[in-house]
Amino acid sequence: MKPLSRCVPSSVTMALDQRARTLLSSGKDVVNLTAGQVDLPMPEEGKAAIRAALDADRTGYVPATGSADLKEAVRRRMGWNDGAVLISAGAKPLLFAAIECVAGIGDEVLLITPCYTSYPEMVRLAGALPVPVPHGEPLERFVTPRTKAIIVNHPVNPTGAVLSKEELAGIVDFANAHDLYLIADEVYHAFVYEERFTSFYDVSNAHARLILVNSTSKTYAMAGLRLGFAVAPEPVAEAMSGFLSHAVGCPCSLSERAAIAVLELDEAYSETLRGVFRRRRDSLASAIAPIPDLTVSPCEGAFYLWIDVSAVEPDDVLFCNRLLETEGVALTPGSAFLCPGHVRLAYTKPEPMLAEAALRLERFVRAYRSGGR
Ligand code: PLP
Repeated sequence: MKPLSRCVPSSVTMALDQRARTLLSSGKDVVNLTAGQVDLPMPEEGKAAIRAALDADRTGYVPATGSADLKEAVRRRMGWNDGAVLISAGAKPLLFAAIECVAGIGDEVLLITPCYTSYPEMVRLAGALPVPVPHGEPLERFVTPRTKAIIVNHPVNPTGAVLSKEELAGIVDFANAHDLYLIADEVYHAFVYEERFTSFYDVSNAHARLILVNSTSKTYAMAGLRLGFAVAPEPVAEAMSGFLSHAVGCPCSLSERAAIAVLELDEAYSETLRGVFRRRRDSLASAIAPIPDLTVSPCEGAFYLWIDVSAVEPDDVLFCNRLLETEGVALTPGSAFLCPGHVRLAYTKPEPMLAEAALRLERFVRAYRSGGR
């Protein structure tokens, strides 16, 4: 049998980002709106903590699932009072560990689509079967005796949707009723623009089957420092610890110190961050709205615009390739999120660049409609 990892393609978003970067470094004028990476500097408090840790030679291994003082800081900041806290090298290894520990070969894992690109591949790497559930379809219709878990991202990458309290409660009730684990990914929790964020952790009957993952990547612009955290019921956390100790080793000792420092920042920090992205979203959405044949989904959270391009070109991969070739704007095709006919635009660049991208997109679409592409 072929090794499982040979059956899994590498991340489409990372590959596209790489292609756009290569074009940029060869001198092409490219606006790269593929990567979900905050373009602001990480907080000074985090940088100072790393410098201090380096000066103190804190470069050795730390415990496999993180140092006790960071776990305490996570509990305080997130309000996670029960369950076991785990730290690792970003949200990704924690999500992967969660899937590995609750689903085995031949089991099924439900994914609400469109969904984050890595979920289906992580499920396949565990030897299990990803079962896409188109958003809005009744979850019950997709459960079988082999279903072990459901993965839910909230706020949603790529659509920018934010789930209501009723939707959160409905998913928790569904998971409990079918004895499924609920793997919740809340890495965009700080990017909710119109209302207060409600976590799955706040749903009272959620804790027994909830594996909740978050990280410093987006909230604190620390994606490259690889520091994520999770809370899980004790028996699952124990299995995840074993997995992480072998697969990852431990989190980065310097990133741990930075995380302790940034987790202490108050709400004013998050409000400023949200303000930047809210302004970008508003100006970009109003620049794109008049473009004919594009339909933009309402974006309440995360930092993506989700655009239906099927009236222009049903093949979203072709749309993205042509747009990159002709106008130098890099977007991610919806197929990468199991939802063809759409594209994702990450507004992770300064406003003037976003305005330029909107102009180019409009020129491209108008030319495409008149058969000029
Ligand atoms: N989950 C979602 C929904 C994401 O969009 C991303 C990154 O884009 C991740 C997880 C990965 O987060 P981390 O950098 O903490 O591994």
